[in-house]
Amino acid sequence: MSVNWATTEDTPAVSRASLTDLLQPDWVAQGTLAELPLEHLLERGIRALVLDVDRTLLPHRGCELPPAMEQWLRQAQAQLPLHLFSNNPSRSRIGGVAEQLGVPFTTSAGKPRRGPLRRVLDGLALPPAQVALVGDRVFTDVLVGNRLGLFTVLVKPVNADGQPCRHDRWQRLEVSLARLSGAPIS
Ligand SMILES: [Mg+2]
Repeated sequence: MSVNWATTEDTPAVSRASLTDLLQPDWVAQGTLAELPLEHLLERGIRALVLDVDRTLLPHRGCELPPAMEQWLRQAQAQLPLHLFSNNPSRSRIGGVAEQLGVPFTTSAGKPRRGPLRRVLDGLALPPAQVALVGDRVFTDVLVGNRLGLFTVLVKPVNADGQPCRHDRWQRLEVSLARLSGAPIS
């Protein structure tokens, strides 16, 4: 099934994309962000990272970065700019992590709306293809990233022990729905 996602505000390049294409991550990781090989992103020309926060950096019920996650983020931020980009309205939760790392952040990002992400891209002053958006959700993170032409990475949600939640019901549901639309997500 191919569904036209075009709206009058879309750019011509994006308006031709089908929903199937928009739901397909460029990279489906088998682990959490902390297990993502950073060198692969750098090798393919990625020069900045826009990162979801809830269940990508922080576990569902926790507000502290798992040690391996913090280590990954510190290594990443030594090599390229990071921006935390969350639909969560809590400035204390999202801003607390951003402050710990010393990176900019966006709350109430409204993913998959494009406006707030456009503003982040404007601030980075990089072509979208050189920016990776990493998150755990298909219909917010992957969709908004693909709508603007970023390199999209779907990671496993992280649990309180810093391990991947392999049976996260929201990600499983969204992946199932995306596959129904024709996106292979494998
Ligand atoms: Mg998330």
